[in-house]
Amino acid sequence: MAFEQPLDRTAPSISEAIDHERGRQESTLGMIASENHVSESVLEAQGSVLTNKYAEGYPGGRYYGGCQHVDTVEELAIEHAKDLFGMDHANVQPHSGTQANMGVYFSVLEPGDRILSLSLSHGGHLSHGHDVNFSGQLYDVEQYEVDPETGYIDYDAVASHALEVDPDIVVSGSSAYPREFDYERINEIADDVDAYHLADIAHVTGLIAAGVHASPAEHADFVTGSTHKTIRAGRGGFIMCDTEHADDIDSAIFPGAQGGPLMHNVAGKAVGFAEAQTSEFESYAEQVVANATRLAERFTERGLALVSGGTDKHLLLVDLRDSHPGLTGKQAEAALNDVGIIVNKNTVPGETRSPMVTSGIRVGTPALTTRSFEEAEMGIVADLIVDVLDTPDDDAVHDRVTSTVDDLCEEFPIYE
Ligand SMILES: *Cc1c(COP(=O)(O)O)cnc(C)c1O
Repeated sequence: MAFEQPLDRTAPSISEAIDHERGRQESTLGMIASENHVSESVLEAQGSVLTNKYAEGYPGGRYYGGCQHVDTVEELAIEHAKDLFGMDHANVQPHSGTQANMGVYFSVLEPGDRILSLSLSHGGHLSHGHDVNFSGQLYDVEQYEVDPETGYIDYDAVASHALEVDPDIVVSGSSAYPREFDYERINEIADDVDAYHLADIAHVTGLIAAGVHASPAEHADFVTGSTHKTIRAGRGGFIMCDTEHADDIDSAIFPGAQGGPLMHNVAGKAVGFAEAQTSEFESYAEQVVANATRLAERFTERGLALVSGGTDKHLLLVDLRDSHPGLTGKQAEAALNDVGIIVNKNTVPGETRSPMVTSGIRVGTPALTTRSFEEAEMGIVADLIVDVLDTPDDDAVHDRVTSTVDDLCEEFPIYE
């Protein structure tokens, strides 16, 4: 019966696509800043029979019978989240980081209330109020920007902006801002106008879990994150808050924004969060930043301009306009893709091209660091990238870079 047959028999095209995707990950250098590779244990938890279980509600108070084992899983995920980030309450059910933010907005905002957040083209996220996202459609959105000269957020400007527009919630956190956020300062700004502070740590979850970046726990009413970026806990999101907001957050997620939780993903979160409590993970997170720092240094030596001049974290934003005026982000992404280096095009502050074209690329180190790349390899990779950007149509460069990428991938396998 088909029910018991392996995937390659019952759905050969899907099985083949999965094998090809595994091969693609092994044979290319993944440098998309929001991606990573999870452990075999997280893969196993996510691919488990937990996918069969309905568990609407929360541990100890479910709308379905038979929840004793999924309760164990969710309770562990919650405990690990609280230990890692130091807040009273954690909700690990959001299906994604966007839904975690939805949970926060639903818990304290009314439609038409005002959000103050970092603009998308300056590093913000769709779920911080972009007009194509529910957050921009339901709420009134004001955005702050980075200083075009320095590439840093000008907190004094954010403070006067807040006084001027009187937001109901101020959002810190970003997808493409290469510097650490000053959560304490944003909190003061929010307090001064009697607004909530949501710290969205989606990108830096792993860096904060490991203590490499300071936690916003003491400086925010709500902390949201994704679980698949610098932390390696499989795809999903989570929310943390103090006891005061716990019930409102829980009911905003279920039944407010979602139905049954994805218990197999909650299991992935429990396993990945536990991995993040180890000293190996701490070394990993330190190396992620050391690798990005090395990449930044070599890029700069080779003449690339970086937004803010460098990085504090796992990603860099390269502004190609001065160094490579004829090359768009889209062309750079394609040329690098052709040699097996996977990055994404990205808008830069003061962008003049469309978001589908852009003038920059975003480059990240979490996935390569999982493969055990260190500073020496990052120097090599930096040179490969600049060689391609300098001569995107040169076949000899293309062949030489491709073969070095192949060698590196073979030397540093992901799943043996
Ligand atoms: C990635 C990200 C999210 C979450 O994205 P999902 O794809 O919905 O999981 C939220 N906020 C920021 C700042 C992000 O970078």
